[in-house]
Amino acid sequence: MVLSLNGAMRRSLLSASRSPGLSRLVHRYGRFAAYRFVAGETLDDCVQVLRRLNAAEFKTNTTLLGEGVRDAATAASVVATYRQVLDRLASEQLRTNLAIKLTHLGLDVSEEVAAQNLTSLVAHAGRLGSFVRIDMEESARVDATLAIYRRLREAGYDNVGTVLQAYLYRTEEDLRTLLPLRPNLRLVKGAYLESPAVAFPRKADVDRHYVQLMELMLQGGGYTAIATHDDRIIDHAIQYVNRHGIGRERFEFQMLYGVRPRLQQDLVRQGYTVLVASPFGAQWFPYFMRRLAERPANVLFVLRNLLRR
Ligand SMILES: Cc1cc2nc3c(=O)[nH]c(=O)nc-3n(C[C@H](O)[C@H](O)[C@H](O)COP(=O)(O)OP(=O)(O)OC[C@H]3O[C@@H](n4cnc5c(N)ncnc54)[C@H](O)[C@@H]3O)c2cc1C
Repeated sequence: MVLSLNGAMRRSLLSASRSPGLSRLVHRYGRFAAYRFVAGETLDDCVQVLRRLNAAEFKTNTTLLGEGVRDAATAASVVATYRQVLDRLASEQLRTNLAIKLTHLGLDVSEEVAAQNLTSLVAHAGRLGSFVRIDMEESARVDATLAIYRRLREAGYDNVGTVLQAYLYRTEEDLRTLLPLRPNLRLVKGAYLESPAVAFPRKADVDRHYVQLMELMLQGGGYTAIATHDDRIIDHAIQYVNRHGIGRERFEFQMLYGVRPRLQQDLVRQGYTVLVASPFGAQWFPYFMRRLAERPANVLFVLRNLLRR
């Protein structure tokens, strides 16, 4: 019963993430709650957070929040901003790379626009010794995302990685076709509203699939970013790498800013590499709604704080 209630709430929150009316309301009254998950609205705010995290031995990435751009001119301005972000991160000597959504770079305009925009950013990042990860969005975008990733690797760029989602049935096959590239992959459970035709509807199946994929990635020759806050999976990963003699230079843990900070610290204390994903920007609404959907208890936290105001 609790499980199905959580499932229904998750679906409602994810479909509400597309509502402009709710977005206006939450921007007006829910900003304080979104700030738990967002490293500020400006790059200056974000740099402060990144400095603090780096000083506490965390690796970091950042993202200019935004997605679903529909015209090439807006996508070009996003690219220009990302170039400034890369320059600033380099001048601040931060241990921070980028994580980028292709729909922010114009994937909905055309695959070619997104590919060219991404290539220019990966090239710029390469000159600065930085790395760019392509986030994974809805299942309808997986083919284009993997095609663009492959295209960059074939063009000789090694400072680029992408993401695979354990909730999709197709992911094991995708992983097997990527492994010969010795890819740098982040493995996540998956954050979007997907149909049972393409994704496991039951959380237990997603968790099981995650573990299978994680083991396969760790056995492959690439680099694995284990992106989860699930301590059972993290414990399993630690036991697995110890048992198989997989070195700490072959993987890292990744978590989101504002989620389970104590667990993040514990892992750093144990000597593991932990990256904290720390996005910034004014367009935080869809990102925030996905964070609420991941843990319906977060909604109660927001409502309780609203009532106290
Ligand atoms: C670094 C990083 C990058 C990501 N990139 C992508 C991406 O590119 N594409 C994509 O589809 N998804 C992405 N995700 C989101 C991911 O798909 C999951 O939705 C998210 O990580 C929650 O799943 P979980 O693995 O933490 O496990 P869960 O089983 O959902 O959670 C495990 C435990 O973690 C805690 N927890 C989890 N989420 C929250 C939260 N929001 N607030 C408070 N506590 C929480 C709870 O205690 C929960 O019991 C990313 C996640 C991370 C950590």
